[in-house]
Amino acid sequence: MSEAAIIDGKAFAAGLRERVAKVAADFEAQAGRKAGLAVVLVGEDPASQVYVRNKNKQTVACGMNSFEHKLPAETPEADLLALVEKLNADPAVDGILVQLPLPAHMNEQKVIATINPDKDVDGFHVVNVGRLATGLPGFVPCTPLGCTMLLKDRLGSLSGLNAVVIGRSNIVGKPMAQLLLRENCTVTIAHSRTQNLPEVVRGADIVIAAVGQPEMVKQDWIKPGATVIDVGMNRLPPPEGETKGKLVGDVDFAGASKVAGSITPVPGGVGPMTIAVLLRNTIVAAHRNAGVTLDE
Ligand code: NDP
Repeated sequence: MSEAAIIDGKAFAAGLRERVAKVAADFEAQAGRKAGLAVVLVGEDPASQVYVRNKNKQTVACGMNSFEHKLPAETPEADLLALVEKLNADPAVDGILVQLPLPAHMNEQKVIATINPDKDVDGFHVVNVGRLATGLPGFVPCTPLGCTMLLKDRLGSLSGLNAVVIGRSNIVGKPMAQLLLRENCTVTIAHSRTQNLPEVVRGADIVIAAVGQPEMVKQDWIKPGATVIDVGMNRLPPPEGETKGKLVGDVDFAGASKVAGSITPVPGGVGPMTIAVLLRNTIVAAHRNAGVTLDE
């Protein structure tokens, strides 16, 4: 049996960031200002702190302004909403991202609903969710858009292919299914109540695993030659004597890569795409907000 081709998300993301940087430089020349992304972090969740640090670094590296707002965990919800309103009104801010999860006393839906949809570069606002579902232009969540870019780069047209998305979250599974539908795939959405999941997955030309269960998708679930996109990021418990456990996906990579045609690794697959797409969404937002035409 031949080994699957590895889909190198790290390299693809680096190329995308380069393209964004060129467009950002052109934007600055035309608009007379840099594009700007505001990132709001409430509390001290360690994983969120790492994400925000990386977003900030990569935004600046692409030639855009990064406005970081760090609020203490006990900040009243009204103060966060007031900050979002201020960012909505700030012409230097093209994109607004409120890092999730928020502390338990805050209503995430209410906070997302306060972001101006035209600055909602995460694509979580209900207006952008509706735009995606109805085929109107809007912002699409970064991780599933990144998966779609990798798929199209690998396969060209996705038209007519059977795609199974495992997971139905608002952040990954549902928008992923919408994007695959837009590409004319026949889409099945599986979740924790799906019966006989291995059999469902065996019918898929494209498998998207967005579950949060380490190495759940096994070798014998995969149709020979299928394209496997592993969104999962699961930290295993550290081996004895070590402090950090291994990062694995939702797919048994060693097994699945014996059968699949191509597969994303973890790390180095979908992960790096998320921030690169966020920067892409931000530069698109900047053009729209400044009324500058973007040659796509
Ligand atoms: P959620 O926990 O919000 O959703 C998980 C989904 O998986 C749910 O729809 C759930 O079903 C389904 N599920 C859970 N267990 C099973 C099971 N045993 N069989 C079938 N379906 C199951 O997670 P997210 O969508 O936010 O994230 C999914 C994974 O992707 C995580 O590992 C996360 O870390 C990773 N991730 C990676 C990103 C990246 O940049 N690479 C970005 C975002 C997420 P139900 O709805 O029925 O409960």
